Amino acid sequence: MKFCPKCDAMLIPTKKEGSVVFTCPKCGYEMSPGEREVRQIKREKENVVVIGRDEQKLRTLPTAKVECPKCGNKKAFYWMVQTRGADESSTQFFRCTKCNYTWREMT
Ligand SMILES: [Zn+2]
Ligand SMILES: [Zn+2]
Repeated sequence: MKFCPKCDAMLIPTKKEGSVVFTCPKCGYEMSPGEREVRQIKREKENVVVIGRDEQKLRTLPTAKVECPKCGNKKAFYWMVQTRGADESSTQFFRCTKCNYTWREMT
């Protein structure tokens, strides 16, 4: 059950342009059911930029003895990124301390 944020009257579901909108019988306020969908899309985008957020923390990252596939340097920063999917797998990222080349390995 939904209530009008303006006058607290019970909103009535009405069909409008093929979808259901909740309208207030007193003041005519309309609550679009599409608002929740927008929020869900935003959350998916946050998952995509996980790599970028972790890159900002690179200064405090530990280093590992791994060979850079690009320049052959044998030292690289490493960090794990937990994939928030159903399988809960994690991905290991490396970044070369010399040329900043970044690559990843599935675990
Ligand atoms: Zn109202
Ligand atoms: Zn390198």
